[in-house]
Amino acid sequence: MSLQIAQADVVINGAGMVGASLAVLLAQAGMKVTLLEAQAQPPERLIAAIPEQLAAGYQPRVSALTLASQAVLDRVGAWQAMTAWRVTPYTGMQVWDGMGSGKISFDAAELHEPYLGHIVENNVTLAGIYQAMQDYPEISLFTDVQMTALSAPDQQGGRVLTLSNGETLYAPVLIGADGAESRTRHLAGIPATAWDYGHHAIVTTVTTEKSHQWQCWQRFTEDGPLAFLPLSGGVEGHQISLVWSTSPKHAQELMALSDEEFCHALTQASDVCLGKVLTTDPRFAINLRQRHAHHYVAEGVALAGDAGHTIHPLAGQGVNLGLLDVAALAEVLIDAHQQQLSLGSLLVLRRYQRLRRSDNLRMSATMEFFRRLFGDRPAPIRLLRSRGMNLVNALSPVKNHLAMMAMGVKGDLPKFAVRRG
Ligand SMILES: Cc1cc2nc3c(=O)[nH]c(=O)nc-3n(C[C@H](O)[C@H](O)[C@H](O)COP(=O)(O)OP(=O)(O)OC[C@H]3O[C@@H](n4cnc5c(N)ncnc54)[C@H](O)[C@@H]3O)c2cc1C
Repeated sequence: MSLQIAQADVVINGAGMVGASLAVLLAQAGMKVTLLEAQAQPPERLIAAIPEQLAAGYQPRVSALTLASQAVLDRVGAWQAMTAWRVTPYTGMQVWDGMGSGKISFDAAELHEPYLGHIVENNVTLAGIYQAMQDYPEISLFTDVQMTALSAPDQQGGRVLTLSNGETLYAPVLIGADGAESRTRHLAGIPATAWDYGHHAIVTTVTTEKSHQWQCWQRFTEDGPLAFLPLSGGVEGHQISLVWSTSPKHAQELMALSDEEFCHALTQASDVCLGKVLTTDPRFAINLRQRHAHHYVAEGVALAGDAGHTIHPLAGQGVNLGLLDVAALAEVLIDAHQQQLSLGSLLVLRRYQRLRRSDNLRMSATMEFFRRLFGDRPAPIRLLRSRGMNLVNALSPVKNHLAMMAMGVKGDLPKFAVRRG
């Protein structure tokens, strides 16, 4: 088998929301990108299927996208198509302690913003990115292919990939954007710390008696957080994307219920905040794991998105962190390319790691803190917890600072994540 030398400047393994966005930003700077994707579905088919899927209902997998993620997707050229298909802006958030009296509410108007973020079905985001990708001949996407082996780095850090179709490929730098079970991470020998949260998330779409009022609703229950995320369209204001994190045993019991029994259990668990839950779509249970790679880079390799880190969905930050990785990595690789540096050198890649790893670790630690704080705790802690929530709620500057960090409008953002004036 002959070796194909340096056809691309960058090889990205995994064409999910993270890998595909990165490919477009690099191509916009004139860089040649090879994108490898294990799934067989070609992008044209994914894009063509969207109108029919929208008419049929809602996909169970959605993400709450921050304003920083919107900025990245706007730079990528995906946002316009996404809004033309379906996105739901939300203007407020209600969070309360289901075992105490604490509550915090966030309001876009208080922050002088039209909304706090958007709820978007993951397939709509991906189709928007794939549509943007079509404008760039610099990107070569290969579907239905997987990397089976990875060589040691050469002197510039470049790696040779062996693919499942028997071909080999030279990568001046290889980006692992292949999700939580990243083969790139594994083959590059980058260790990761991982543990089960002891939670499964049940996801589906439900309708409720009362309107969601374009707000997110999150109740911390004794078993885990339960989130109602607003969806537009259909029975306007009454359709909700559900993320109910609970113990594996409870999740199993909930999955075994009839639709009617499940709606009843959800009505109770949500404190009847939107009245009765009237209908449910089919439910899916997802095991939630925390993972964090010990390094995001090795010679000739960098990890982005879920390949580097996965966190609890309780604050809806997973892909938002991934898109910030994309913005930082694009900036670092484009700068290095313009200066004609070896893209796979640790000197270049460590700059990306410095920009992102401590921020991602901080977010992981914060999610872990909230998960433990709202677990089944003794009464004095529950009391303090409720008092703390009410105190933060009363302190507008503290609360607004927290909200702006979570929305991605404050802090040190990579330039591709800054909103255009
Ligand atoms: C219940 C739940 C709710 C969530 N809610 C939110 C939210 O509200 N907001 C938010 O920001 N995040 C949320 N997340 C997290 C978010 O879904 C992930 O962070 C995001 O999907 C990660 O994107 P990614 O592109 O890094 O990985 P993935 O989406 O996993 O994409 C990886 C891609 O790589 C491909 N691939 C895998 N293996 C290989 C291989 N060996 N070779 C080639 N290709 C491969 C896959 O087919 C896929 O296309 C939630 C997660 C869960 C579980």
